[in-house]
This record gives sequence, C-alpha cells and structure tokens, in this order.
Amino acid sequence: MRPAGLPSADELDRALRNAAPAEVIAAALKVVGRERLALVSSFGTESAALLKVMADVDPAIPVIFLDTGWLFEETLAYRDTLIATLGLRDVRSIKPLEETLTREDPERELWFSDPDACCRIRKVEPLARALAPFSAWINGRKRFQGGLRADIPVVEDGGIRLKFNPFANVSREDIEAIYSLAKLPPHPLAASGFLSVGCMPCTSRTSAGEDARAGRWRGRTKTECGIHTVKTS
Ligand code: SF4
Repeated sequence: MRPAGLPSADELDRALRNAAPAEVIAAALKVVGRERLALVSSFGTESAALLKVMADVDPAIPVIFLDTGWLFEETLAYRDTLIATLGLRDVRSIKPLEETLTREDPERELWFSDPDACCRIRKVEPLARALAPFSAWINGRKRFQGGLRADIPVVEDGGIRLKFNPFANVSREDIEAIYSLAKLPPHPLAASGFLSVGCMPCTSRTSAGEDARAGRWRGRTKTECGIHTVKTS
C-alpha cells in the first residue's frame, strides 16, 4: 500500500538501495517531511550510531522510544545520555496503556506464559498509537543481524506507512566506526556481556561466538518482538 501523496516503497528503494545512511535519512526527510516522519529507537547497544547519523541530518526528527515497563534502568539512563550527547530535540517515550496492562497482564507474567501477547500490548500496540500521526518511520535493522532481517530492503512497504532502513547495508564494522569516530558512549550494559538489550525478562548475556541477538528470548523460538513483522495500521 502507498501512503497518500508519497512515492512507492519500490520506487524509493530503487533510488536509495546503494545510498549512505545519511543520504537515506535526508531523502526520507525531503520526501516525507519532518511532521510526518519518525525514527523508532530502542536505545539499545547499537542505537547511538543511527541516532548520531539522524542528528547530523536533523536532530528534531521525532524519535519514538517504547518504554515497556520491563526495561533495564541502564537503558533509561542511556536514553537520557544520548538525548544530551546528540542534542536530540524530540524524543517521545511511549508506555503501554495502564488499562490494557490491568486487563491483560495483571500479574506481570505474560512475558513467560505468552511472550507474543506481552510484546503486542507493550510494543506493537503502543507503537501503532505513537505512529498514528506519521506516514513513514526509520529504524535501525541491519542485514548482518540475519534471521528475518537478512533480506530487508532500504525502503519497504510497512502497511499504511513507508519504512526506511538506512542501515540495511551497513556492516558491524561500519557501526563500530561511527561509534569510534563520534566518540559515542556505549550502552552501560555492553561491557558486561549484553550485545543486544531489550526487556529484562527476555534478555540475557551472549557467550563468545554467539550472534548478538542470541541473548534475546533465549530458549524460545521467538526472535522478533513483532513491531517489524506485524504491519502497523
Ligand atoms: S520483550 Fe519480553 S517483557 Fe518485553 S514486551 Fe516482549 S515478551 Fe514482554
């Protein structure tokens, strides 16, 4: 589906498939406009790189952060550090609705009994609400992360919105180079073995040789929270 008044995802992808991340974000801004474009960030271990590239293009692009109620204190602190370090001007922390939590997860055990339902009420639904004013969103997935991410295009059809994946083509070394050149602070948990950080109950340390996302939903078949596999409406 093509959002009203915008080129199709295929058209944009053809034009941007070899573009540098900053060029992709600048093109998104030009085509969509700042009022209709948002970036979604988990403020995780690699998030500062995309936020830095965005801030160099325009630090006032709205940034949506899903505060699920299960995040590490260190992630909340990292959000605040990056806001200050990068001069981010419009970070919106979005929480699940209290009434939904009371109705569907009164014991806070859904992460264990039905993690897909837990992600739906804490991530997928809040994101759909937060994205309501926007026609397109930017996210930080990379092909090198593998799994369902191995084939993502630079621009894709995300339902009623376009999705820009400026880091689709980048390598792990490219990300490290952005951190190093800009002297970006690492996530506070990175030094203690967390290569990918999400919610507390569903995040564990990774061992040497494991993929970065191996510590997410360990022991389950689940590999994605749903914000990228369920098309937003
Ligand atoms: S990652 Fe875990 S705790 Fe967080 S919303 Fe999903 S199932 Fe719930």
